[in-house]
Amino acid sequence: APLAIFPGRQNSKGFDLTSPVDLARIEEARAPHQETLFEAAPMLAGPVAGAARTEVKNPATGALVGHMLAASAADVDSALTHAQAWTAAPAERAAILRRAADLYEANFGAFFALLAREAGKTLGDAVAELREAVDFLRYYANGAESLTHPPHGIFTCISPWNFPLAIFSGQIVAALAAGNAVLAKPAPQTPLIAAYAVKLLHEAGVPATALQLLPGGTEVGIAVTSDARVNGVCFTGSTATAQGIRRAMAANLSPTAPLIAETGGLNAMIVDSTALPEQAVRDVLASSFQSAGQRCSALRCLYLQEDIAGPVTEMLFGAMDELTLAEPWKLDTDVGPLIDAAAHKTISEHVAKARAEGRVMKEMTVPAGGTFLAPTVIKVSGVEAMGKEVFGPVLHVATFKAGEVGALVDRINATGYGLTFGLHSRIDDRVQEVTEKLNVGNAYVNRNQIGAVVGSQPFGGEGMSGTGPKAGGPDYLHRFTRIEASFAGQ
Ligand code: GLU
Repeated sequence: APLAIFPGRQNSKGFDLTSPVDLARIEEARAPHQETLFEAAPMLAGPVAGAARTEVKNPATGALVGHMLAASAADVDSALTHAQAWTAAPAERAAILRRAADLYEANFGAFFALLAREAGKTLGDAVAELREAVDFLRYYANGAESLTHPPHGIFTCISPWNFPLAIFSGQIVAALAAGNAVLAKPAPQTPLIAAYAVKLLHEAGVPATALQLLPGGTEVGIAVTSDARVNGVCFTGSTATAQGIRRAMAANLSPTAPLIAETGGLNAMIVDSTALPEQAVRDVLASSFQSAGQRCSALRCLYLQEDIAGPVTEMLFGAMDELTLAEPWKLDTDVGPLIDAAAHKTISEHVAKARAEGRVMKEMTVPAGGTFLAPTVIKVSGVEAMGKEVFGPVLHVATFKAGEVGALVDRINATGYGLTFGLHSRIDDRVQEVTEKLNVGNAYVNRNQIGAVVGSQPFGGEGMSGTGPKAGGPDYLHRFTRIEASFAGQ
């Protein structure tokens, strides 16, 4: 039942990966989907033309997972022509979205297989991702019933490959819960999961005119953000792409069309000398290397107080040696592959440059083939030295002296990004002061800084990290409605 202090919260039970019973259920359910070739094609209320049909490959092995038929310009036009706001009563929309949540849970076998094969997700990550997707569906279904403002009309949702199910679903279901018609454009790396999810949403009763899928790359992205018939855009991805979308919208859409963007970060963690080293190391490992560092929330720059830096890094490097890098569908895998060869090239170049400068502190060996990249630790002077977000299992470490914490906070704020932040400290006043002064969306104290939970840890950044409102929080749905209508004429 929803908790009183978090109205609308109702989290999915998920699976217990220490339970042999749950593991056997998972194996049995995903077995039929381990070899299947999946398809993603435009899913439109009208006929489909299609553009290029391309292969979708498994990042760990290069094996074929399925095909994507990209949407053509005619498909985008047809989707815009046929799109109709979802006029069903809020209670009916909520009931359909709850039915979809049940269908997602029932189809866990296909999703776990696809999350590993198409997106390189470990089983632990896949379980967490399905749970988050289902949580979004139920949370926004609950929220739909108390909305008082009309929808914008047609909402374009552009989602990233790193949460191909949770963020893909969270965006479109928020827009649908508010009564909009949705054009969904998933990342070209992960269209198969998206198509599977849309099939279930339609099966649950979301009308074909309210939810249309337009797979494809940049061309499709540009088309669905620069047509005057679009009334709002929801985007998760890089800061640079969000800026491009803002320009396209400004030039073509109504000046009141909202952009809800979740973008990048230069996330830091400060560990002072009062921290418990074992706990800090565990949380650094999870924050930096879980999901192979391919989370926008991931820790990028760790600040260690000078007097504990030696023992903490020694313990960290020892713990890194215990990480298993392997194919993501194997049960004991801790770190899977990067999403594709392009990501591998960019991050390898970053590591190679640091190596040439003698700044690599720790490297590991990687399995041959695929797009595996070894978890790596690089020495830096501070977060500003990183310059840009490095979207992989690469941790940057800097040290600081007693008395410098205030200055660190200023330096972190000065980057202009503000997504997540971690602090390990036993000094209550410091915790208070630092978390108040930092301009970040999600600050975590004495724990890891990833894996925000829908309904209890609304997720989103400030400054260059996002527009807000936070996903999975009480304000999110309102932005998908014409809340400004309540100011007009007052
Ligand atoms: N919500 C995710 C987390 O808390 C991150 C989302 C993202 O990477 O875009 O780890």
